[in-house]
Amino acid sequence: MTNTTVELEQLLMQRSLTDAELQTAADSAADFRILPDATVIKIGGQSIIDRGRSAVYPLVDEIVTARKSHKLLIGTGAGTRARHLYSIAAGLNLPAGVLSQLGASVADQNAAMLGQLLAKHGISAVEGAGLSAVPLYLAEVNAVVFSGMPPYGLWMRPPTEGVIPPYRTDAGCFLLAEQFGCKAMIYVKDEDGLYTANPKTSKNATFIPQISVDEMKAKGLHDSILEFPVLDLLQTAHHIRQVQIVNGLIPGNLTRALAGEHVGTLITAN
Ligand code: ADP
Ligand code: MG
Repeated sequence: MTNTTVELEQLLMQRSLTDAELQTAADSAADFRILPDATVIKIGGQSIIDRGRSAVYPLVDEIVTARKSHKLLIGTGAGTRARHLYSIAAGLNLPAGVLSQLGASVADQNAAMLGQLLAKHGISAVEGAGLSAVPLYLAEVNAVVFSGMPPYGLWMRPPTEGVIPPYRTDAGCFLLAEQFGCKAMIYVKDEDGLYTANPKTSKNATFIPQISVDEMKAKGLHDSILEFPVLDLLQTAHHIRQVQIVNGLIPGNLTRALAGEHVGTLITAN
């Protein structure tokens, strides 16, 4: 055992598991990425899949071509059907954990549909993205579809107010990218990226090509194009230090983002 391991073991036996010195010792091991060559892309629920064929078919074509040169973990959003479920369940005073399960079932439906469309290209949808077959799918066909909702289910951390689960599919996809130490996290939505206000309701909104989490918060944009807890996850992440948001309704954008081009908005940790 190395000195660091001995020291860490002693600390672990004696201290609280959140002790500051223990945290530092636990953090000192060299960085390790599980799937460093893979990129996580999230296909928006409300913004893309709910639009049906006109939005989804061109993206499917783009994914099929892109996976020749990129390894893709393709997560799905939930969208309008989940919002409908949330409104009914919240009206019934059901808790966030139950709403989380309901939302997950919609992201599952979207993953199932995307999986059917990609099936003839040899791309499968998996039931749990954390399961061991994912590396095999990536090695064999460069892509795999997963349901974007994080599997907290009933154990979803309740929000401070209300019952809408705070960690939904933007967060689920981000966490997968971070835990696997992936190359990049790309959100495919229906706007060119972040604006100074919601472009669907504000005519004067202007486009923001790049912004940090702190700047976003200072501008009051923390609750806008991404679920707001993602910003805090991004700031504390070790591997994923920026995320990109692209307009998936414009063919070619996803491909350009995968090639490392700055299309859409980059949100950086600092
Ligand atoms: P998803 O389909 O991935 O769940 P959402 O529909 O939740 O995506 O989020 C994307 C939407 O966020 C956009 O369609 C847009 O209407 C909205 N939005 C709100 N505020 C902003 C903003 N400041 N800039 C860009 N989009 C915004
Ligand atoms: Mg959303």
